[in-house]
Amino acid sequence: MVPLLDTNAQNLPLKAELNAAFDRVLHSGHFILGGEVTAFEEECAAFLGAKHAIGVSSGTDALVVALIALGIGHGDEVICPSFTFFATAGAISRVGATPVFADVCPVCFNLDVASTREKITEKTKAIIPVHLFGQSAEMYALQALAKKHGLSIIEDTAQAFGAKYHGKSCGTLGEFGTYSFFPSKNLGALGDAGLLVTNDSELAETARAARNHGSKIRYLHDFVGGNFRLDALQAALLRIKLAHYPSYSAARSANATAYTDALSTIDGITVANESDCACPVSQSAKLKSEGARAVLPVAYGHNTHIWNQYTLRILDGQRDNFREHLKTAEIGHEVYYPIPMHRQPCFRDLPEASLSNCPVSDTLAREVVSIPAYPELSPAQRDEVIAAIRGFSS
Ligand SMILES: *Cc1c(COP(=O)(O)O)cnc(C)c1O
Repeated sequence: MVPLLDTNAQNLPLKAELNAAFDRVLHSGHFILGGEVTAFEEECAAFLGAKHAIGVSSGTDALVVALIALGIGHGDEVICPSFTFFATAGAISRVGATPVFADVCPVCFNLDVASTREKITEKTKAIIPVHLFGQSAEMYALQALAKKHGLSIIEDTAQAFGAKYHGKSCGTLGEFGTYSFFPSKNLGALGDAGLLVTNDSELAETARAARNHGSKIRYLHDFVGGNFRLDALQAALLRIKLAHYPSYSAARSANATAYTDALSTIDGITVANESDCACPVSQSAKLKSEGARAVLPVAYGHNTHIWNQYTLRILDGQRDNFREHLKTAEIGHEVYYPIPMHRQPCFRDLPEASLSNCPVSDTLAREVVSIPAYPELSPAQRDEVIAAIRGFSS
């Protein structure tokens, strides 16, 4: 039996440190924002190489705060990938704007630049690339597109805290980067928590006000924000885990390398072909590698992938059979994500232009499956996963 994730394996060895942090907060009697949150924000800003970091209540709220701070609302359109977690799209709707879904690349799973370009209209105000599964989207091309059309970029970095693009931390290239510390994210809190970063001092100030009812001076409200504050307790606990974070990323990366080395030797399993990536250029990407039955994920040379998920594509309509096989072998796995945003019932009344032309998202929803890659996975457990996959392929 190998679970998809084991939070206890990470948190219990830190028990003494976490208890000490809890005691510190308990005795401080200060539970909302305050010193622990400020210290955590400063430590994150330093770790990521961002000027400002603002702790918030979740990764979803980080997106909402970023949109509010940019003044995006009713009548505005925001482009995001169809193949993502719901929060990316939900946040756009929450502020009253219209989500417009672009397709993704079948190789790196991130925003397809050509598809994004096609979806830009007079009403477009921002693009939200998602650094899915822990690898950066193609930011230079997206930045060029945003600059040409006067758009803001909010990087949904919920799955890519500390991942890098050409040496820079994901989340620090756009107007805002947003992060989630949901327990299954690479830096997992003991509850809900989130963060946003920006290098723009004015935007930082507005975001700080937005997380606290649009108020900079007590009881004076410049605009309507919300209660999107980070708890002192979560900040204190996260500070401890942040200090251990580089070792978590290294362990995930070692797992990914071990998987790719072992699985790529199996007949019919191939590594995704980097040159098929649809992101930098507008060429139509190949959805199927010659003769392959399964495709392994690839980390691009210019990216530091942090492997929030190790996600395979199982071709030939075999994905659900593959899942059954893993289930029988008691290997934890999950489909991230089975229903793309352009097929969600809550978005069915959006304009046709929001929902059209996302064929790769449809294909990926049918093909992807993620296997255990968490840092504490032992070599023996990893071998169990590899053996189970070998068993399906032969
Ligand atoms: C997890 C996640 C979010 C939302 O984060 P929460 O902290 O759960 O609100 C947003 N976007 C993506 C891509 C995510 O994976």
